Amino acid sequence: MKRAEKIFIDYLRENGLKVTKERLMLLDELFNTEEHLDADSLLFRMRSQKRRVSRATVYRTLDLLVQCGLARKMRLGKENYVYEKVVPGRSHHHMICTVTGKIMEFWDSEVDDRLRQLCQEKGFRPTYFSISVYGLSQDADGER
Ligand SMILES: [Zn+2]
Repeated sequence: MKRAEKIFIDYLRENGLKVTKERLMLLDELFNTEEHLDADSLLFRMRSQKRRVSRATVYRTLDLLVQCGLARKMRLGKENYVYEKVVPGRSHHHMICTVTGKIMEFWDSEVDDRLRQLCQEKGFRPTYFSISVYGLSQDADGER
């Protein structure tokens, strides 16, 4: 957490942005969960802990976290996005259910090796990679 906070504070200062309590609280909230959350869920979580924060601040701060590489934004549905923290050196992939919105993470070293190989063949240097596989989870059948 401390490392992420330092990266974020440095980023805000370098870009002439204010280091506010609200921004640091949001970072804290995202880094203290293993979940993939949308902006409104994060807003709800913060408010339920009596943390005063506006919806605009949550959206703006999430964008900043993505820009400085601390968070990843993933598309769920047409207009739905979820966020998760980025932990260096730990790549993982996602299976995303288009009916229930359920997200399952998976790890596979063979997939990662193949991706690195493909990048190398194209002369592309990956910073990180994460595959999103869209489809139907087992519990989606009951809801259709
Ligand atoms: Zn994930």
